[in-house]
Amino acid sequence: MTYFHHSATTPVDKDILKTMLPYFSGNFGNASSIHQYGQKAMEGVEYGRQIAAKYFNCQPDEIVFTGGATEANNLAIRGLIAAIKRSSQHITPHVITSVIEHDSVLEPFAQLEREGTAVTHIPVDSKGVIIFEKLEAAIKDNTVLISIMYVNSEVGSIQPIRQIGKLVRKINEQRQKKWEQTIPADRTAKPYRLYFHTDATQAINFLPSDVKEFNLDMLSMSAHKIYGPKGVGLLVIKQGTPLTALQLGGHHENNRRSGTLNVPGIVGLGKALENLTNENIAKQNKKIAVLRNRLVKGVKKLVPNVTLNTDIKNATPGHAHFSFHGIEGESILISLDLAGVAVSTGSACASNSLKASHVLIAMGIPVEIAHSSIRFTLGKHNKKSDVDHLLTVLPDIISRLRNMAPKLD
Ligand code: PMP
Repeated sequence: MTYFHHSATTPVDKDILKTMLPYFSGNFGNASSIHQYGQKAMEGVEYGRQIAAKYFNCQPDEIVFTGGATEANNLAIRGLIAAIKRSSQHITPHVITSVIEHDSVLEPFAQLEREGTAVTHIPVDSKGVIIFEKLEAAIKDNTVLISIMYVNSEVGSIQPIRQIGKLVRKINEQRQKKWEQTIPADRTAKPYRLYFHTDATQAINFLPSDVKEFNLDMLSMSAHKIYGPKGVGLLVIKQGTPLTALQLGGHHENNRRSGTLNVPGIVGLGKALENLTNENIAKQNKKIAVLRNRLVKGVKKLVPNVTLNTDIKNATPGHAHFSFHGIEGESILISLDLAGVAVSTGSACASNSLKASHVLIAMGIPVEIAHSSIRFTLGKHNKKSDVDHLLTVLPDIISRLRNMAPKLD
């Protein structure tokens, strides 16, 4: 089998599994327990926390472990707004996100909107990158949060995170100055702050993720996209960022996320991040890019009527998203699966719905073309023979399906 679906999940590295195994039955203790079993488990958690803090360039207590990026996104967005609303009743918050976010960002914002918070969705250009000027223009005096993903999961487009971080810093400096110049009787207790969150889930394998460098207040990520285990992730949350917990009752993670810690998962997440710093990532990514470019070149050469929706110059090295005009993406996916190649039609979460991808529609791609899409996402274990196998089977699959497709006249 050839696996070209690394944006959905990745296989767990053998050394990561090995690091996790002792924490299932030997060091099985609850990390909250005081006795030695608990202490051993806590050592595992602290290992994960220290590595994560070093990796993201933050303090260890600025890491909140979660059950993955979906939970981290929900906690960041809903937790921040709940805390702001609770602490400053006079403020009606306005928040900004983009039209191409993962559902675990879009849906918390939709819920906030139903509850009365104003939400602005920033559009993207035809390459799937947010229009920066529109973001700049959307910021109002009461804007408290910008949440823009680092890399889009469907087409792989890299968003201007560094530029957004600089803008957020400038806005906060302006607000501070304006507040200082307002006479004390007329001003709020503190100037309103604008917080910046990114869902970095699809970026971590390929791009630097230093929260200080990008002026980020919050960052979400997930272990299973970086050759670690499923069901564990984290939220980096900078000190001083307001947060109301969404899950109540356990007081874990400094009251920010209740629930017994997933010790083997946290150990695995730590090891996965450690591997990213130890492995020769630049070389590895170069190899992935070479294979992806071979795939792109081959598909374009061998299959007529295709559009490449990934802007190779500004995407992860692993992404190649195509539209094969005139055929449904689902039928291509099934035929490729039968031929031993695993791909997807879009994001894993959207692939069980027959709605056209909101990302492609936002990029201005017509609905019928969006429906004919297949996403290939390559990873570190792919080989030249995987790409060549795909290029052997794909042209026949496409021409057979096109011959079967109803002719419109
Ligand atoms: N955000 C993005 C950009 C993703 O690609 C995914 C996974 N499809 C998630 C969030 C959700 O991550 P998890 O599976 O860890 O909940």
